[in-house]
Amino acid sequence: MTESRSVSFFNYPAVYTSQEDEFVEIFKNIGRRGAFILQQELHDFEKNISGFIGAKHVFGVADGTNAMIVGLRALGIGEGDEVIFSSHTYVATAAAIHFSGATPVPVECGPDHMMDPDDIERAITKKTRAIMPTQLNGRTCNMDAIRSVADRHGLLILEDAAQALGSKFKGKCAGTFGSFGTFSFYPAKVLGCFGDGGAIVTNDDDLAEKIALLRDHGRNSKGEHVAWGMNSRLDTLQAAILDCKLKRYPDDIRRRREIAALYESLLGDMPQLTLPPAPDSDPDHFDIYQNYEIEADNRDSLRPFLMENNIGCPIQWGGKPVHKLKNHGLDHHKLPFTEKMFERCFMLPMHPHLENEDVEYVAAKIREFYE
Ligand SMILES: *Cc1c(COP(=O)(O)O)cnc(C)c1O
Repeated sequence: MTESRSVSFFNYPAVYTSQEDEFVEIFKNIGRRGAFILQQELHDFEKNISGFIGAKHVFGVADGTNAMIVGLRALGIGEGDEVIFSSHTYVATAAAIHFSGATPVPVECGPDHMMDPDDIERAITKKTRAIMPTQLNGRTCNMDAIRSVADRHGLLILEDAAQALGSKFKGKCAGTFGSFGTFSFYPAKVLGCFGDGGAIVTNDDDLAEKIALLRDHGRNSKGEHVAWGMNSRLDTLQAAILDCKLKRYPDDIRRRREIAALYESLLGDMPQLTLPPAPDSDPDHFDIYQNYEIEADNRDSLRPFLMENNIGCPIQWGGKPVHKLKNHGLDHHKLPFTEKMFERCFMLPMHPHLENEDVEYVAAKIREFYE
């Protein structure tokens, strides 16, 4: 018998308590200077993210969803255009396409839960402008395969990398493969702030100029309003908190990968489960495990059993891929692989504050269920 304990899916207070003293100092420093909007700490954070992922331009924006809307608008994608996305993503990916004025077109995910490159071509029409893969669960898609489809059809690549800061494919960071990439700093994300926050990155100088205007009321560096713009800025306070956390972020990634390896060693032999690819199981991928999303036989009995044992284990997106949501006008799309997968998938606790004993407890309870 394993001793009973409680393993929450995510530890929200730890976002703050983990480095409380440093955060209080940041609060005092910025508060006393009244340095709230577009101040030095924001530029420092942008520069540090730029160095961390190897992107030329980084802009802190209001949140990950706004990052995508800003990017789509900056590229002039809108009415009459179609953008292909993987239906296994947050509704925000499709909503950003929708609110840019374009039509979101969902495609299948593959066995690793990432956009299936082999299903993209089927969805391409004369109206298609871009492919927008989600770098899901901290993994980066096979970007060679996606690039080859995009090039064959003259399409742009736009990355929703909200879950993938520091994840790599063939040594290159998520967010840097296409015209732009976007990140979210929602508290439960791998790098989380005290509310909403996001970033958009690009290596394209012209696009960067448009993004800079769009996020700040169309205002240029001289303070003149030279274009229609929006208000989508990352608060200086949030940027300073994030910059402080970024210093320890490589340790967080290391810990997440350790936990993934531990799950693999404890559960990898079970025929009832399909686990995510283990760290370093494929030299092309460096995964950072934003989520540990598994598939399981008899999932709908397993989850209540785990919850009775105080284990947080939600199904991502409330249990539905985007094309199955009500009132979103996408339910005429048929994606049989994704739909079947959603009868089996759910997430195990995964965050850097887990102890090995937590992971061992979760694994023991899963074994107990199948025995
Ligand atoms: C969290 C998330 C978003 C949205 O980010 P916000 O900062 O909450 O707007 C978009 N896409 C994916 C895949 C996400 O996980």
